[in-house]
Amino acid sequence: MKNIKVLKPSLKKSHLSIVKSLIFFIFLTSNLFLCCFAQDNITPFEIVVKPEVASLGDTVSVKIRKLPTEKNPPRIFFEKTKVPVFSLSETWYRTLLPISAGVKAGTYPIEIFYKGHTKKIDLTVKDTKYPLQDLTLPKTVSELKASKVEKALVAKALNTYSNEKFWREKFILPSSGPLSTAYGVKRRVNGVINPDYFHKGLDFAAASGSSIKAPENGRVVLVGLASKGFVVNGNCIFIDHGHGVVSGYLHLSSVLVKDGDFVKKGQLIGKVGSTGIASGPHLHWGVYVLGKTVEPLLWTKTIID
Ligand SMILES: [Zn+2]
Repeated sequence: MKNIKVLKPSLKKSHLSIVKSLIFFIFLTSNLFLCCFAQDNITPFEIVVKPEVASLGDTVSVKIRKLPTEKNPPRIFFEKTKVPVFSLSETWYRTLLPISAGVKAGTYPIEIFYKGHTKKIDLTVKDTKYPLQDLTLPKTVSELKASKVEKALVAKALNTYSNEKFWREKFILPSSGPLSTAYGVKRRVNGVINPDYFHKGLDFAAASGSSIKAPENGRVVLVGLASKGFVVNGNCIFIDHGHGVVSGYLHLSSVLVKDGDFVKKGQLIGKVGSTGIASGPHLHWGVYVLGKTVEPLLWTKTIID
């Protein structure tokens, strides 16, 4: 009994210290949790989105400043889809997002996960009203459909994601011919409007045989030939500029480069023609980001780094 009596208060004492420790632990961890939570709101890494409000046809640049203590790159999701992130320099990671003419105006979520933190940005996309163009094509031409091989090869070329960035400055125009059809224009072909259709590039009404120049450095990822089943695009070239940016040149009369060639800005790559679906000699120039079309003229007006 004596022993028990002696032990009781000491047990009580140790209980008290456990409770005290527990309260202190809870206080400490809850504060730590609050601290982490607060940091997520602040986001311990810098993000630069350009432009902050986008329009249809824009290429949106999302840059994330590298944290010296973190080796893993950030993960970025655009509209819930994971997009490739490239190392732009020693200080920045960067991803380019396409806002095609075919998308609806509204709010598009960009989610960034980096070093245990999450940042969500709601990108506002404004509408652009594109004009309607009437076009008359012979039935034999308007009813031509791309072959499976043509579709597959073009899709593969457009989805080239090179880690190296080849372009350095603003793009130059690939043709000196006058612009005839702008990007995003809706078309009424032989009196019928296809609601899903929009012009996916820029047309130059250049003379047959006139020069086509590479607008920036890049690697040729596809040369398609009308004689090899390219019934829609005709003779065509696709150039990979790196970081998910690809440009395309359609309806050529002749191709002066081959698959795998590295082309320099201003280099002659082919000649204007009217092969494939074309109402006459012209160059169709398309710029693609992550496989989706964007306004090519924007690439000639601003340096998208
Ligand atoms: Zn065109």
